[in-house]
Amino acid sequence: MSTSTPSDQPRASVLVINSGSSSIKYQLVTPDDGRAVASGLVEQIGESTGAVKHVAHGVTTRRELPVPDHAEGLRIVLGLFEEIGPDLSAAHVVAVGHRVVQGGARFDGPVRVDAKVERDIDELSPLAPLHNPANLTGIRVAQALLPDVPHVAVFDTAFFHHLPAAAATYAIDIEVATKYRVRRYGAHGTSHQYVSDKVARVLGRPLEELNQIVLHLGNGASASAVRGGVAVETSMGMTPLEGLVMGTRSGDLDPAVLFHLHRNAGMSVEELDDLLNRRSGIKGLSGVNDFRALHELVEKGDAGARLALDVYLHRLRKYVGAYYAVLGGVDVITFTAGVGENDDVVRAGALCGLEGMGIVIDHERNAGRKSEPTVISADGSRVTVMVVPTNEELAIARQSVEVVGA
Ligand code: AMP
Repeated sequence: MSTSTPSDQPRASVLVINSGSSSIKYQLVTPDDGRAVASGLVEQIGESTGAVKHVAHGVTTRRELPVPDHAEGLRIVLGLFEEIGPDLSAAHVVAVGHRVVQGGARFDGPVRVDAKVERDIDELSPLAPLHNPANLTGIRVAQALLPDVPHVAVFDTAFFHHLPAAAATYAIDIEVATKYRVRRYGAHGTSHQYVSDKVARVLGRPLEELNQIVLHLGNGASASAVRGGVAVETSMGMTPLEGLVMGTRSGDLDPAVLFHLHRNAGMSVEELDDLLNRRSGIKGLSGVNDFRALHELVEKGDAGARLALDVYLHRLRKYVGAYYAVLGGVDVITFTAGVGENDDVVRAGALCGLEGMGIVIDHERNAGRKSEPTVISADGSRVTVMVVPTNEELAIARQSVEVVGA
């Protein structure tokens, strides 16, 4: 008779890979307890020297060495697992989960990767030219190096796939929009879904009964309106440029600004792309894109930094009001991601003056960084306000396990 207990068995784990144009971010996750067993990052792929960081057993290993391409990057990562651990062959890896940015109108959930899925991801590249080709490279390289494990693609757009047509449609010539697939796809969906599910579990209330607004405020930033667990609005559009003010991205602006700058400043499409994606947002207004640096400047009396923060908070408040109307009332507003989890000034500033809508923050509860789900609204607040740390890797790992049925 076997004397083994479940705790003797290696827990199933998932290797989560987020492949960017010059980087590979990875995490080995055990989905049932949500632990990141190991994690790391390969950067500066294709440059003369690459940087590799591997974190396992509480120890960080750093290497500087040439990483000519993604295949070599992943080979180095697998080598580090072998050399430093944990031993992947003993880790019971049941799937490799890949983050894919754009799933277009095709993908409304995670899928096991096959040749058709690869073709579809490739075919969606015009809608996400910086991301999908890099995601696909990561998938192909990982499949070649880990051929015996199923690979799963988890799409950043999937949670917003079923946005109502009224929310997903841009009011432009319908034939042009259809031909070129111009519509709102959203982004950060894995995070919005994870956080809105988690809110219901933490509050012990049925997800189906909750009207939620989720504010994912990181270097990129997006808001969503979620009714009964289903996304009905989101601030990112055809690309992650629309919506809130971000670290380096403008968010919403009058599209005619582009015609004006093209005609009068002679700016090309590439220059406009660079302006709005990399030289705008908090950085464009203040010179810095990290909120810690922004607050330091504000405290020193820097007028540009003050304006940047005011514009950022104004935009956020506007979206909260709009989504309150879209939902016809809100039960929970939740902050997440780097700024949302850490920055109490932003949280308080975004929701100040909304007491008439039943939104009242408790400043003591709000104070400081939150690494656990926390209610920060006052006892009498009609709307519950929370901070819930996001965990996109865990969400990808859990969705991957569901797809492969492990
Ligand atoms: P993310 O994209 O979610 O990793 O968020 C990254 C951003 O979070 C950074 O660019 C900072 O602006 C912000 N951030 C990180 N830590 C803090 C902190 N302690 N206080 C304020 N903002 C922070």
